[in-house]
Amino acid sequence: MEFDSRIFIAGHRGMVGSAVGRELRSRGYRDLIERTSGELNLTQQADVEAFFQAEKPEVVVLAAAKVGGILANSQNLTEFLYQNLMIEMNVIRAAATHGVGRLLFLGSSCIYPKLAPQPLKEEYLLTGSLESTNEAYAIAKIAGLKLTEYYNREHGRAFISAMPSNLYGPGDNYHPDHSHVIPGLIRRFHEAKIGGQSEVRVWGTGAPLREFLHVDDLARACVFLLENYNQSQFLNVGSGEEISIKDLAQLIAEVVGYQGRISFDPGKPDGTPRKVMDSSKIRALGWSPKVLLKDGLKQAYLDFTSRIRDQA
Ligand code: GDP
Repeated sequence: MEFDSRIFIAGHRGMVGSAVGRELRSRGYRDLIERTSGELNLTQQADVEAFFQAEKPEVVVLAAAKVGGILANSQNLTEFLYQNLMIEMNVIRAAATHGVGRLLFLGSSCIYPKLAPQPLKEEYLLTGSLESTNEAYAIAKIAGLKLTEYYNREHGRAFISAMPSNLYGPGDNYHPDHSHVIPGLIRRFHEAKIGGQSEVRVWGTGAPLREFLHVDDLARACVFLLENYNQSQFLNVGSGEEISIKDLAQLIAEVVGYQGRISFDPGKPDGTPRKVMDSSKIRALGWSPKVLLKDGLKQAYLDFTSRIRDQA
């Protein structure tokens, strides 16, 4: 990858795509191609083909996806499977047929079986049943990483994949119901603080364990892999630190400055009990995370407050 390579970031307005764009620019890559979903609908094969034909990107970062937290995922299985599969198949195929030299596909730690041994190693893929709350999303991500791997193995293309753990950071979706746990709780604790509420209900039992990675750490991993890694084997990208949802809720309340009670709502799904990845392969290559969870949460809270100020 050269500093003047034409790099298409699919999904550049999302949390991951925008972080990868910031990282690429800060490292001197200057020819980034970006399209909003209004300008280019990635679920439409003919449009994607025409775009690759006209723009001739040399490198592709596939960070476009239909994403959402546990409720959004479990209530829209059809769209999570269909839209993600279409985006992945169209973009990876067009990249292959239009001579793209390097492609990085972004997946998710939810590709692993619900009850796989922990920490999750890359080789546990497809050794058991998936967690039902995000099965559709996981199946689409598995298909995408497999198509990437097959182009690499069968056709010698430098197409690679990274599987990040649960992400958070600037540019997150703070929707009260459709978001992931960190942005969802930042919003709820903030509103409870401002509204003087004495109690916040956190979904599920509080017992599940999750591993969180700041999106800037993922973006550094993405650029590192684009510069240094060619193999067909996808790689886990995680912080290695896990925390229960209960402890996470307490930490977010502290960062936000909410001092009321925290209770739990077991009527909402817990999802998979534990999801911590073994990221020793990418660490052995030389990448490691830099952002500590508490620092990252402070930064995320600032991002949230600046967004609601902008909307006001
Ligand atoms: P998951 O890793 O796919 O389950 O992603 P999520 O970030 O949506 O949820 C992680 C865990 O946090 C699950 O056990 C949820 O039940 C729990 N959780 C607690 N409160 C919330 C909330 O307000 N929003 C979301 N999305 N999850 C929550």
